[in-house]
Amino acid sequence: MTATGEPSRVVILGAGLELATRLLQRLAHDVRITLIDKNESFVFGSSKLNVMFGDTTLDAVRYRYSTVVNPRVEFRHEAVLSIDPVARTVVTAVCTYEADILVVALGAGLDPSATPGLVESGNEFYSPEGADLIRRVLDTFHERVVVIGALGPFFKCPPAPNEAALMLDEYLVARGRRDDVTIYLISPLPSPIPISTETSAAITAMLADRGIRYWPHSRISRLDGAAGTLHLDDGRILKFDLLLGIPVQLAPAVVVRAGLTAVGDITNASVPRAGSIAEGQAANLAEVLISEVTGAPLPPPYAGEATCYIETAEEGVARVDVNFLSGSQPTARFMLRMPRSQPSSGRPCLIARRAGSGHPPSDRRSRPPKGSRGRHCPTRLMLAADCRSNPSQPRRQS
Ligand SMILES: Cc1cc2nc3c(=O)[nH]c(=O)nc-3n(C[C@H](O)[C@H](O)[C@H](O)COP(=O)(O)OP(=O)(O)OC[C@H]3O[C@@H](n4cnc5c(N)ncnc54)[C@H](O)[C@@H]3O)c2cc1C
Repeated sequence: MTATGEPSRVVILGAGLELATRLLQRLAHDVRITLIDKNESFVFGSSKLNVMFGDTTLDAVRYRYSTVVNPRVEFRHEAVLSIDPVARTVVTAVCTYEADILVVALGAGLDPSATPGLVESGNEFYSPEGADLIRRVLDTFHERVVVIGALGPFFKCPPAPNEAALMLDEYLVARGRRDDVTIYLISPLPSPIPISTETSAAITAMLADRGIRYWPHSRISRLDGAAGTLHLDDGRILKFDLLLGIPVQLAPAVVVRAGLTAVGDITNASVPRAGSIAEGQAANLAEVLISEVTGAPLPPPYAGEATCYIETAEEGVARVDVNFLSGSQPTARFMLRMPRSQPSSGRPCLIARRAGSGHPPSDRRSRPPKGSRGRHCPTRLMLAADCRSNPSQPRRQS
């Protein structure tokens, strides 16, 4: 609620449903929330792997924002063109928004063109469309050397390339094609999960068991499609037939121009880029905002805690509990061979609860509340600092 007794206008860039849900549950009529996203739907990161290996279809895992909005939440399908952190306004192709509380959660963008040759001669599986294209490529492919490679110095979800390699092995075994294919896994990271020696040892052993050639500390800098070669930045060259790549990742230009960092993958906090971390940051930010609106005490700082599930194909699902910010060093606890049924319910989930849960479900797109725009009130811009996730530390390269 603002000083004038009006509901606070909360504008979340990047359709942050976790934050919206928590604010609605606790502040109800004290907030009006506008979610702005250039996409009309969301796909969980882990679902992209399931799409890629044909376990499901892209349509089945698309979560449309228009189906989850609550009457107190307005979803705007628009691209953010500029953010003014001083005037605290946001310009899209359609209009200008003013907010009392502005949250930037625009994620990390993918830049396939940053790696010469990737667009022409490779594939990427970090976008929903890229994963779906690879599903079709794998259906008919008979190539001999398949490389799963991370192309930038860091990337979201460090376990994902390892999972992709293990799932590719399982996919090929099931189709009787494994003997014809050599699988390489090339990563800039020194080990599969650098924070946990135990997890890394277990994953490295699984890769070795399956004959997957693992090159840690290695980075592909360019592809030469005509020669069929991958070039590493240390001078090594590898012949390949199919590259399944993780493109270079970067902050959206609109955030760079505004000189901002914020919650989720785009934070500058010293945490990995993962949905479970983004969810924890959003939950902490919700508590900070709730305490500011209600006068309740501030919550403890965000601890950088998350649970990460790793699909290991044959062995089932492994679990790592991490904590990046509570102590002097990050910690990790590893558990191998969880029953497969457990993670499906506990899997990191930004939208585990629908926005507006606890209210009557609504399948209508909510209309803009009257007077929700055009007023001038003091506005705060909530950044990682406000989320209290230790932004002063340098960005982690993982
Ligand atoms: C293959 C793969 C597997 C993964 N597996 C897991 C896993 O098992 N567990 C886990 O915790 N994490 C996993 N992740 C990571 C997880 O998906 C991300 O860390 C998480 O989605 C980050 O959330 P975010 O809200 O910060 O950003 P995003 O989810 O990227 O959301 C950002 C939003 O901003 C929107 N946007 C960007 N620019 C603009 C603009 N200019 N205007 C309007 N809207 C804009 C985008 O459309 C997007 O909807 C995986 C990722 C991948 C790719």
